[in-house]
Amino acid sequence: MRPLEQDAVDRDPTIFVYSDEMSWFDFGADHPFKPERAAKTYDLCTRYGVMNHPWMKILEPEALPIDLLPLFHEPGYLRLLQEARENQVTPEMIAHGLGTLDNPIISGIYEWSLLAAGGTLGAMDALVKEEAAAAFNPLGGFHHAMPDHAEGFCYINDIAIAIRYALGMTPDLRIAFIDLDAHHANGVQHAFYKDPRVFVISLHETGKTLYPWSGYENETGEGDGRGFTINFPLEPGTDDEVYDFAFQETILPLVRSFSPDLIVAEIGADALVSDPLTHLKLTNNSYQRAVKEIMAVCPRILALGGGGYDLYRTARCWTLAWSILNRVAPEDEFAGLVGGMMFGPEKEVGSLYDHPYHTGGEVKEKAFKEARRVAAYIQKEIFPIHGI
Ligand SMILES: [Zn+2]
Repeated sequence: MRPLEQDAVDRDPTIFVYSDEMSWFDFGADHPFKPERAAKTYDLCTRYGVMNHPWMKILEPEALPIDLLPLFHEPGYLRLLQEARENQVTPEMIAHGLGTLDNPIISGIYEWSLLAAGGTLGAMDALVKEEAAAAFNPLGGFHHAMPDHAEGFCYINDIAIAIRYALGMTPDLRIAFIDLDAHHANGVQHAFYKDPRVFVISLHETGKTLYPWSGYENETGEGDGRGFTINFPLEPGTDDEVYDFAFQETILPLVRSFSPDLIVAEIGADALVSDPLTHLKLTNNSYQRAVKEIMAVCPRILALGGGGYDLYRTARCWTLAWSILNRVAPEDEFAGLVGGMMFGPEKEVGSLYDHPYHTGGEVKEKAFKEARRVAAYIQKEIFPIHGI
């Protein structure tokens, strides 16, 4: 019996948003977004003893009520999204990002997106009402969706909607959105660029080398929202050491100073070294440290999946994140023995923990130099706004 189990009766519930059926939704064989990562995460959590504890609740998502869609999206886009049918793509749809390679119109995508957003909303509702201590929706985190168009595999921005919904319930709630996904959180930034109630923080690969080509350090918010948007662009080849520097020197002091009541954390695992779409070189050790650090500031966390295109390493990373959110240790008999082994299609068993990985040479030097420059910019321009 795990020692931590003894205090199970005293624990507030935590929520894992999960639907087996949703996990098997198919974006197409050539599309990198694979919802089955959620099923793999659920399986791995079970196998490593971090699922099915008495305080954990599985939330089967219900569709987002469509009257909440206008919290972020424009009616014209919503009409097109509802009407969109396979093989009936119009130029107007393409102009709104629908029917593209990244955002194909596939049968059931509208309903699936409503379920994904409904999962995020249900978890947010429970957190705001203090019916849950923490939650994780691995099929949430569609941070690229814009009011009037789809992009970057995202159709409905569950994050912007859930945060605005939460602020509607509790207007003085202090919410920090912290995005560890390798891509800039452009849609969420757009939603709260002038709104100081939501502290939007995104660490990501620089827009010089990666979609959505934005998220530079000088994008810091406007009007009342100035200083409440933080972007930390990272060079290709950024490893754990550089990432931890960025997090410790800028992100943590800012989050501590903001002192949020609730953190929405997008833990997209596409910054991992093996991810096929990006050029960052993190191990899951960086993710673990980041989740632990933000939990120490504010344990009320709504974690969302976002990206992650190496399915097995994404599942391992998220299994560790779920264990940290629940303060339980995975039963990892391979820890320290064969760390870093992949989970392959043959369900090969190995440790959840990655081996350390270091970038070297000029790539590392450039990544560190840039990180120091960006950190200095944030410390000079943003810290004083927050009294640091
Ligand atoms: Zn991403």
